Amino acid sequence: MAEKQPTASALRAFHDGLAAAYGPQHWWPVQDADNPRFEILVGAVLTQHTAWTNVEIAIAELRDAGPLTADALLAHDDLPALIRRAGPHNIKARRLRSLCEWFVAQGGFDVLQTRDSATLRRELLALHGIGHETADVILLYAFQRPAFVADAYAFRIMERYGWTSGARNYERLRRSIEAVGPDNDAGFYDELHALIVAHAKQRCHKRNPDCGHCVLHDRCDHGQAAVAESERAV
Ligand code: SF4
Repeated sequence: MAEKQPTASALRAFHDGLAAAYGPQHWWPVQDADNPRFEILVGAVLTQHTAWTNVEIAIAELRDAGPLTADALLAHDDLPALIRRAGPHNIKARRLRSLCEWFVAQGGFDVLQTRDSATLRRELLALHGIGHETADVILLYAFQRPAFVADAYAFRIMERYGWTSGARNYERLRRSIEAVGPDNDAGFYDELHALIVAHAKQRCHKRNPDCGHCVLHDRCDHGQAAVAESERAV
């Protein structure tokens, strides 16, 4: 089916449909609600290709070993061992160190939050092991910037919906959504990302999406075709 361009009203309807189905998501999940921002940076790296339950265990081990700050993480000689539950621990320890060194050298949140989003994204992408998705998670949840996280769940749903097709191109999808999304409303993107994850897990499965019970099916290319097919079959 031909790709269609998202519009501001269509994106709002997409968001609102999912919000009505799943309710407020209140992401990003943190263990210390009084001091969430640095934990979000750490979680964004640890969750790369890793189940969130294992990330939670690794963060709990880091918190047991000392304060969850950039200086404390850089001082851990045993950082790979502390995060061993979160996948390839030597690789992720190197990525965490790179992120912490940048964070400390730049002056922490007080200084970094004065930078515009494009500059922050560019600096994050220049760090070892920080790709587009991780950079946008950090921008969105740690810096409250309006950034669309074009993760695998977003691609799955938006390909079926008809908003992207062909070879997956992160920047192309991110820019097409941000071009029509609300300016200066990080809360919209925060909920949108979390709702997309909820929808992918509960309805728009990798195989056999449950289009017949999906709130988006009357606007989704794949859903319309699936429902028409099931009606022809009866
Ligand atoms: S209609 Fe089907 S394919 Fe489209 S978003 Fe819903 S579950 Fe996914």
